[in-house]
Amino acid sequence: MSVSREDARARDLTDPLRALRDRFLIPEELIYLDGNSLGALPKATVDKQEDVVRRQWGTSLIRSWNDHGWIDAPQRVGAMIAGLIGAKPHEVIVTDSVTVNLFKLITAAARLSPTRPVLLSEAGNFHTDLHVAGGAVEAVPNMRLEIVGRDEVEAALGRDTNLLLLTHVHYKSGARFDMGQVTATALQAGALTIWDLSHSAGAVPLGLNADGVELAVGCGYKYLNGGPGAPAFLYVAEHLQEALVPMLRGWMGHAAPFAFADAYVPAPGISRFLAGTPPILSLTALESGVESFRDVDMATLWAKSIALFDLFGSLVAERCAGHGLQCISPPEPERRGSHISFRHPNAFELCQALIEEGVIGDFRAPDIVRFGITPLYLGYENVWVAVDRLASILTDQRWRHPRFAVRGTVT
Ligand SMILES: *Cc1c(COP(=O)(O)O)cnc(C)c1O
Repeated sequence: MSVSREDARARDLTDPLRALRDRFLIPEELIYLDGNSLGALPKATVDKQEDVVRRQWGTSLIRSWNDHGWIDAPQRVGAMIAGLIGAKPHEVIVTDSVTVNLFKLITAAARLSPTRPVLLSEAGNFHTDLHVAGGAVEAVPNMRLEIVGRDEVEAALGRDTNLLLLTHVHYKSGARFDMGQVTATALQAGALTIWDLSHSAGAVPLGLNADGVELAVGCGYKYLNGGPGAPAFLYVAEHLQEALVPMLRGWMGHAAPFAFADAYVPAPGISRFLAGTPPILSLTALESGVESFRDVDMATLWAKSIALFDLFGSLVAERCAGHGLQCISPPEPERRGSHISFRHPNAFELCQALIEEGVIGDFRAPDIVRFGITPLYLGYENVWVAVDRLASILTDQRWRHPRFAVRGTVT
């Protein structure tokens, strides 16, 4: 049975999360399916930034480090994120970028097992992860990076494996690893796992503690709605915190930053993973982004993500059949994240044509068009209209217009 636009609208009316869209500023005419790349702007962010800039910076000036809690912001926002990912408040800190945080964790954790030389990762992992891993192993004596196919990861774990670096939800396909099972398998082989949660945090239910996760990083500007270039987060399980000594050190991670001592003494706990001064404007924007999840139950959010994905998938199967679109995201909810991806020989042109018609997804080279599903601000009718426009572009072959083939810088 085909789902009509009216059916989709009716589902929006009974959606328990519908009112949350009001927390965001999204142009009325736009269907935004790229919140997995840059989350939407929470209305609260606008007011908060105004206050932080005008009142805190403008009038309190340097006193704000204490008076307005700037100095504690990395821990405070980290604790908020911990609530979304099943971690303890003191196990998460907000700092730097995912890339830099991976460097910190790899170089610190690899030293725990100096006789194990291998950092193992997956071919086709997000490229920054492989780039930083390649550099990080050169900074650790005798380390090397080994990259194997996704299906060979577990078999490749062995006595040489020091660290396993994986992205929980794949940025292209949306395929999701079983976090608890992989972490346990790696641990049995004597290896620690570093999880990249960039496409997971704020998107899928996570239980880092329950799954025995020891090390993780994640992105602030995607599902967490922290704004462009928002700082990332870093997680270290409580029991490992004192054992890890960062190689990337700085005064903000010192036990006594304002003692101005020559000698480095790591701060107790997660704070040692700070390096330089936190970017307060970005950090407070991330705080507003994470606050947009207040009173939201992750299970309810995930249930809506599943429903939106299934609606998207079934409408495409029905209305776009015969036009060369192939869904590459796993059909089983427990094996995927919160975006739906399709392969198409002209994915780039298709994506450009959609953007021109107010449906913003993104293109991932060489042939993938990807749609982020963000249940905080996306509704059933939005999905219906998006697929309707997609079907019409495909049917009329409007993507063939030469202007859609012009490649500039596309993010
Ligand atoms: C978005 C993303 C990043 C981003 O890294 P930054 O250094 O914060 O820009 C890293 N890893 C994955 C898997 C991502 O999807």
